[in-house]
Amino acid sequence: MICNKPHRYNQDFELLPDDQSKFNGRHKCVGCAYERGFELGLARAQTLSIDYSTLPDSQAGAGRHKSVQAAFADGYRQGILASYDVS
Ligand SMILES: [Zn+2]
Repeated sequence: MICNKPHRYNQDFELLPDDQSKFNGRHKCVGCAYERGFELGLARAQTLSIDYSTLPDSQAGAGRHKSVQAAFADGYRQGILASYDVS
């Protein structure tokens, strides 16, 4: 499965650290990792986990070869912040 969402071209992902480790979600979509984290943050999930194997692959765009773990963590934090806005 390859991600075709427009978040592949989100320039914010250029700021993520590079990560080429094959054990760390290499070639997975950082945008999808971010969204997964965001949802957990919005729900204020107290237990976090991410299964890289469930994320779509990314073949192009700004998030290529970036850390999906950092993207997930960023998404979680932004989700937490967003959860304060809706309450
Ligand atoms: Zn994606």
